[in-house]
Amino acid sequence: MKKIAVIGCGAYMDSGYGCPGEWRCLKAAALGEGKIEAPSSVAAFVKCECPGRALVPTVGMAMKMSEIKPDAIYLSSCLVNAKPGCPYSNAEEMAKIIADKTGIKVILGTHEYH
Ligand code: SF4
Repeated sequence: MKKIAVIGCGAYMDSGYGCPGEWRCLKAAALGEGKIEAPSSVAAFVKCECPGRALVPTVGMAMKMSEIKPDAIYLSSCLVNAKPGCPYSNAEEMAKIIADKTGIKVILGTHEYH
């Protein structure tokens, strides 16, 4: 089974919308639905915190502490599709920075549930 890491938007999570970390990303990973093509083990779930500067080091720390290098990193659907969007960056830019720093492919979005 593939191992993945998921990154959620902390501002969205803290707004109390029940996403992510409630069930959507986890269900998509468990069943291999949405953008997650096959059932996958979530090895890390990282919460971005505004303005996002600590995100890459936090992802690196999660990999170091867990001793697991994920096969792919997913930016959660709430992070990618939030309206209004992130005022500090955008999903494409975040994905490129994370991929460049970690050498791991970054996929935009996780689930397609409502
Ligand atoms: S920096 Fe952007 S993606 Fe990160 S928590 Fe803040 S609003 Fe969300």
